[in-house]
Amino acid sequence: MKLDELYQEVILDHFKRPRCQGKVDKPSAISVIFNPLCGDQVDLSVRVEGGTVQEIAFGGHGCSISQASASMMSDLCRGKSADEIRRMGDVFRRMMRGEITPEQAQSELGDAVALEGVRKFSARVKCAMLAWEAIEKCLDQVLAEKSSS
Ligand code: ZN
Repeated sequence: MKLDELYQEVILDHFKRPRCQGKVDKPSAISVIFNPLCGDQVDLSVRVEGGTVQEIAFGGHGCSISQASASMMSDLCRGKSADEIRRMGDVFRRMMRGEITPEQAQSELGDAVALEGVRKFSARVKCAMLAWEAIEKCLDQVLAEKSSS
């Protein structure tokens, strides 16, 4: 199987059988991110305890890229600290810009490297980034609450 085909299958698998779908009980933060270009929406809820994302779940609707990316991101971020998540988001962004290869990103991003192929369709990069924008927004909220309390 060619790498392209394998990546297609990984994306389709996450789209058809999303991980971490739904809503978290007593969330520490929620965010809703839209992509008007494609009509995608990602609703994210997280519960953060002791600086770690204990629970994460997403809802929403949209194209297979946006929803598969949300599934991959949620799967990756569960049990991780805010710093680790921001670093993964940064690696993902750099991969989508072509600054690093999927091979270089594999150890950090796992399945999510399958989305690198989306780079060929520049309008869809936003679809893939949506979930990462959502988690970063949630982490900002958690941080803001911590500093104000
Ligand atoms: Zn989309």
